[in-house]
Amino acid sequence: MDDRTYTADAEPGETVTVAGWVHEIRDLGGIAFLILRDTTGKIQVKFEKDEMDDDLVERGLAVHRESVISVTGAVEAEERAPTGVEITPDSLEVVAEADPELPLDPTGKVDADLSTRLDNRTLDLRKPEVKAIFEVRSEVLRAVREQFRALDCTEFNTPKIVATGTEGGTELFPITYFGREAFMNQSPQLFKQLVVGSGVERFFEIGPVFRAEEHNTPRHLNEATMIDFEAAFFDHTEAMDACEAVLTAAYEGVAENCAEQLETLDLVDEFEVPESPFPRLTYEEAIERINATGALDEQLVWGDDLPTEGEHALGEAVGEHYFITDWPSDIKPFYIKDYDDDPDVSTGFDMMHPTMELVSGGQREHRYDHLVEGFEQQGLDPEQFEYYTEMFTYGMPPHAGWGLGVERLIMTMLGLDNIREAVLFPRDRQRLSP
Ligand code: ATP
Ligand code: MG
Repeated sequence: MDDRTYTADAEPGETVTVAGWVHEIRDLGGIAFLILRDTTGKIQVKFEKDEMDDDLVERGLAVHRESVISVTGAVEAEERAPTGVEITPDSLEVVAEADPELPLDPTGKVDADLSTRLDNRTLDLRKPEVKAIFEVRSEVLRAVREQFRALDCTEFNTPKIVATGTEGGTELFPITYFGREAFMNQSPQLFKQLVVGSGVERFFEIGPVFRAEEHNTPRHLNEATMIDFEAAFFDHTEAMDACEAVLTAAYEGVAENCAEQLETLDLVDEFEVPESPFPRLTYEEAIERINATGALDEQLVWGDDLPTEGEHALGEAVGEHYFITDWPSDIKPFYIKDYDDDPDVSTGFDMMHPTMELVSGGQREHRYDHLVEGFEQQGLDPEQFEYYTEMFTYGMPPHAGWGLGVERLIMTMLGLDNIREAVLFPRDRQRLSP
């Protein structure tokens, strides 16, 4: 078992064994310092050459940076040490020697480009500011799960290998499944709807989605993590309330439990829990406001998708998280329900960070005939989706839900320039390993 003392817990007066990585060695002549780093921080190990065993000094100072060592010795208070204490070693063991030629410098003194960092993620993660991103991500997932519990949701895992895509199209990755064509799933959409029709009523999932995105962009991955929510008897406004609650819970969790990480990331002053309720703009108001900014060469008209520059201009004008509601039915997927009194307008919504889309959702079409019609209008063969549509003939309540991209959430929360910073091993057009 791991019975060593964490560097952060080493108290003056104790004799401890600490273990971790050699962060740095400073040889000042008669005295030398080795800085040992573990998951909790760093500690100074002191070598007084004249007073210590020669072999111990020699082995301690010959070890290469980033090697793993274990040191046993007495802890003493030392004001000049980085953490106020230091260890005088009685024994030292080199547990795993590191190559003196490292592909990147974990102390961050030498910059490395993103590609080198991703190729050497193990070394990259030794940097506190990189580790902090993933600790924040972990806290976000914890807080989100807790919020879903508060919303009476049950967590599910749906299949990622599927016979047909949710929305079809070019975004699907085909695979060979025992000689048959299959696909990596682009969204749990259809499965989560099948669950809320079961009587479980409130569903959530946090899992991967696969999209053969046409372009490499700073905000698209080919494998992303999606937070999916779906609830029976909810309409789109209730789904938006749940979305706001989950996003807020994620920020609150980080504010409460990640003070150290925010400090490491230099975000203490900037980090703010978004204020609820978020403004809710209709699509019509959104295009009017974008047109009014003059950011686009051509004015947007009803039915246009919002171009990225338009989203940016609007985000800047709004200046906080906001929803865009009441989208034209034609530019939302077939499974989104249209308003009963105006079939040209859908209950679809997007939740936006000022810089990009975070969430898409809506109330779903739960009426069998309308649903099948929707498949046909979208150019999909309803027969291929019989496993799904059939369940709508056995008592399907009205329902609504949404999907939120985890990496986009982390990226916008921490102001990262590139979505790849928020994924351990990103998958993009060029990158398939590690
Ligand atoms: P966009 O228009 O920004 O490409 P989308 O509308 O195609 O996104 P949705 O299908 O609505 O995406 O997915 C819901 C959410 O999942 C998005 O709002 C986003 O947060 C996230 N997401 C979608 N595609 C990706 C991707 N390729 N990489 C990372 N996150 C994604
Ligand atoms: Mg979307």
